[in-house]
Amino acid sequence: MFIDSHSHTKHFSGDGRMDISELISGSLAASLQAIVITEHFDDDYPHDVDTPMACDIDAYFESFQKWKAKAPASLELRFGIELGYQRGLVQRYNDIVHRFPFDSIIMSSHLIYGLDPYFYRDCYDQGAKEVFTRYINDLIEIASGESNFDILGHYDYIGRYAPYKDCKMYYDICPDEFDTLFTALIQTNRSLEINTRSISKLISQGHSNPMPDDRVLLRYKDLGGTFITLGSDAHTSDGIGLHFNETRDYLRSLGFAVATVFKERKPQTISL
Ligand SMILES: [Zn+2]
Ligand SMILES: [Zn+2]
Repeated sequence: MFIDSHSHTKHFSGDGRMDISELISGSLAASLQAIVITEHFDDDYPHDVDTPMACDIDAYFESFQKWKAKAPASLELRFGIELGYQRGLVQRYNDIVHRFPFDSIIMSSHLIYGLDPYFYRDCYDQGAKEVFTRYINDLIEIASGESNFDILGHYDYIGRYAPYKDCKMYYDICPDEFDTLFTALIQTNRSLEINTRSISKLISQGHSNPMPDDRVLLRYKDLGGTFITLGSDAHTSDGIGLHFNETRDYLRSLGFAVATVFKERKPQTISL
């Protein structure tokens, strides 16, 4: 039994592909005890997309309460959100966070140089070191700023769409920046997400070792990091809890004993 802290439905996430009944059946199939629904809220998203990337949170909360009431007793639904960071949105997001009874809040960056690398492929022309370092610097801004959140989402997002032979986010690309980021997260009691969709991406690229770089995780631990959260970032039911078993084994092999999840914004530990 485990908890997935990152998922999207098609009801409120522009790129979600599963409805709530598929989310529930996928969670039961993955033997989860709870799942956090984290619909996208990327305000001022800089690209023209068919469906908005910022959901109507009032409508989402209203639906969530109905979903929760109808969910099977063996599966707990938690109310979360994935906020897409931009520098000018901190106060607006903090106001939202105070208006709703979230269980768990992921803060993510989906942008590099102000654009989403999913669309802005030219960003990678700068080379892996420059682009990956820039992305980690953006995460440092999030972690050391005034944003109110629990989990830093997918630190390796920038690798997902990279055209390089090896798209993994290695500690040695920018060790000083990783150290600064981890110190800021640890000092503010935020959790580092291990996003297993990033693992899927590396597998699809034929990577010989698709798990997150052990040096990243060991350095986080050495600096005092204990909060690690697993999220599948599922947009379809078969993505729920994907690669959790291998990832839990891997984290245990690195010396982590527990993962952290959030309920009513308070951390809880669960065995890995
Ligand atoms: Zn994301
Ligand atoms: Zn997501």
